[in-house]
Amino acid sequence: MRPQLLQHVAELGAEDLPVYVYDLQDLSEHAAAIRTALPERVELFYAAKANSDPRLMDVLSDHVDGFEVASGGELHHIQRTCPGTAIAFGGPGKTPAELEQALQGGVDRLHIESEQELHLLTGLLGERTVDVLLRVNLPIALGPVALAMGGRPSPFGLEPGHLDRCLALLADDPRIRLRGIHVHLASGLDATAHLDLAGQVLTWASEWADHKGVGLTEVNLGGGMGVDYARPDRRFDWAAFGAGLRRLTEEHPGLTLRIEPGRAVTVYCGWYVTEVLDLKRSHGHAFAVLRGGTHHLRTPATKQHNQPFRILPADTWDRPWQRPQAQDEPVTLVGQLCTPKDVLAREVHVQRLRVGDRIAFALAGAYAWNISHHEFLMHPAPQFHHLDHAPVLAGPHP
Ligand SMILES: *Cc1c(COP(=O)(O)O)cnc(C)c1O
Repeated sequence: MRPQLLQHVAELGAEDLPVYVYDLQDLSEHAAAIRTALPERVELFYAAKANSDPRLMDVLSDHVDGFEVASGGELHHIQRTCPGTAIAFGGPGKTPAELEQALQGGVDRLHIESEQELHLLTGLLGERTVDVLLRVNLPIALGPVALAMGGRPSPFGLEPGHLDRCLALLADDPRIRLRGIHVHLASGLDATAHLDLAGQVLTWASEWADHKGVGLTEVNLGGGMGVDYARPDRRFDWAAFGAGLRRLTEEHPGLTLRIEPGRAVTVYCGWYVTEVLDLKRSHGHAFAVLRGGTHHLRTPATKQHNQPFRILPADTWDRPWQRPQAQDEPVTLVGQLCTPKDVLAREVHVQRLRVGDRIAFALAGAYAWNISHHEFLMHPAPQFHHLDHAPVLAGPHP
């Protein structure tokens, strides 16, 4: 946590909590570092579904080559918040209305998920043209990863064996230009695993293109760069990844590569800050009940992990009774929901935790608020604060 962030949180009153604080300076520096680590010929897109907060999009638009959207809603949102940016539109089950929205302009690449989608597109095109990538579910051995979306039965993308039928449709229709292949096979990969995957994908793609006589110019390698919630300091090795991608671009000189990470870009800049409302014991276990809960930050419930956090001690206590506290023992941090699933961190050892202390949950910048079930129990929504980033000045201040 930067000192500015700590100070901001310290100045908030209890009724300002819970709050999501987005550190825009942190995001800006992180995105710039990712861009710097990547070779020129690798395009960096951001997968908007990880977190599409407009202020974050505004910061990111300075660093990325474009945005990947996965619905008509996201498409509309990104077109409004980042006018003129490049957009790739993917995702399963696109409706005819969404395809029509994509065709009306502003979408550079449409990721085709099925043969049915190609048929729909053909019927909608009229005089228009469209640039597409075929999303392929490749039979690649991935090893144990957090969320595998390919290489096994999956609703995403096309089986390699079904590509021929798509190629036949495309051959008959010059309005649909096949630019290349899209894969997004897994999430939670480290740099070595992701590079291994990328190498296998590129080998497959060039052999396939040669074999079928397809002029392949682009491969989108997807997202899924890993975030370690148990070790927030251990980050995806963008430098090693960039160096590996450079080697791959040299081996495949005719190809433009693109990646579209979401989580690993925005996760670190977001904090969910709240306070301990109650601290009690049950069957020998300490429970801290926090203002808010998984209806604001669903990530630990969906991923079944302990959300990492920092305790920000609050030293004032003006109640006439003894302040409830836990000391040198494991505590389970729960929210205000009437369900045993409302757990943010389970049996985490603390030196000391008291009613009124504040808790800042880290890694809350991606798949956090936007995947949560906000309406459950009708508690108030959190506030959203954005810590502005100071403009980076090239020279001394005038
Ligand atoms: C979700 C998604 C991404 C981003 O994945 P992260 O794990 O957030 O990096 C990229 N591409 C596609 C097609 C996706 O569905």
